[in-house]
Amino acid sequence: MHKKFFGMDYGCTKLRFGEVNPITGDIHNILKYSSTKYRDDDKLVDLIKQLIPDPRNAGLGICYAGDVDEENLVVNLSANSGNELKKSFAQELRSLGYDVILVNDARALTMGVSVYGEGKDHHNVIGETFSTGFGAAFSSGRIVWTHAEPGHMPYRKNPVLHCSENCNNEQHLEPYVSGKAGEILGRKFFNKNYIKHPNNRRLTIEHPILQAALKEYNLGDKTNKILKTEDMMNDKTYNLIVSNIGSKHVYEAYRREPKGEPQKNIRDLQVESIADSFGILVSVYNPVDIIVYTGSLGNEQNELMLPAIELYRNRTLNLPSLSEQGKPIIVRTAMPEPGVSGAVAYYLQKKDPEIFYNL
Ligand SMILES: [Zn+2]
Repeated sequence: MHKKFFGMDYGCTKLRFGEVNPITGDIHNILKYSSTKYRDDDKLVDLIKQLIPDPRNAGLGICYAGDVDEENLVVNLSANSGNELKKSFAQELRSLGYDVILVNDARALTMGVSVYGEGKDHHNVIGETFSTGFGAAFSSGRIVWTHAEPGHMPYRKNPVLHCSENCNNEQHLEPYVSGKAGEILGRKFFNKNYIKHPNNRRLTIEHPILQAALKEYNLGDKTNKILKTEDMMNDKTYNLIVSNIGSKHVYEAYRREPKGEPQKNIRDLQVESIADSFGILVSVYNPVDIIVYTGSLGNEQNELMLPAIELYRNRTLNLPSLSEQGKPIIVRTAMPEPGVSGAVAYYLQKKDPEIFYNL
């Protein structure tokens, strides 16, 4: 029987799974699940048993958002996904006969883009995820040497934002270059503008950010009662919708009214911070040939990423000792799920070097 290769990417919000062509990295039929449903080891093991009923002739690469012990197949800590306990699902899978490897998700992403994606013709590659968190890894000659938690580096900026719930430090890079800035500052703006006078409230509830948050609320859980703009005149409903504001609502509002606040300020802040983040990583890993990024915030191309890349190009945001020629190419990956493909590439490097080194 011919061997099949499967990849799984356990992210902070979504879990993705698919069968991967080891030569091209293409994924056959990608499946998505909510990560929170599979936090328990038993549930995750059951899911794999369902997806791959026969472990024989199957190679499985799993990447996980957290600190991974590759040797012992354990996730030690996963701060951003809210998993505080050690995870040993991969050990259990091995004892059930699965041929499995486990790797950190930033490493898998970087491996994926280095082997199958935009980095494949370059030597030194940084893979980055701009999403709920901010992670990066560095590969050279298609070997991933290091991964970092650049999101938790000190970063001084106004306004002062708290890092993720599980870190909670002030003045870390992460909230500025992830979806946090939109969420925190968007909610804060409407809490501050919590206007009791009905005439003012009437104006506030028409704001494109609240409208976007309301629309998504109505599209969400079908058991909820459908809410109308008018319902936000009620304090409880208003607070509910404000608590549902996320960064994508801020960017939706920015597309509609680029000069309106708070979306303009939030966007300007993030463009600067993302440009800074390129400079920081290049200063750490220099020389870098290409940065390949992905993630939900990374999809805000016109609003955030392209202006940030331009700002980085036009300013010296590297260490002053680095030359201007040292600035790398920066692109978003066109790979649909680089973590899933990358987990399989990682598997191949460890378990099937004959395939890997002939790619
Ligand atoms: Zn932090």
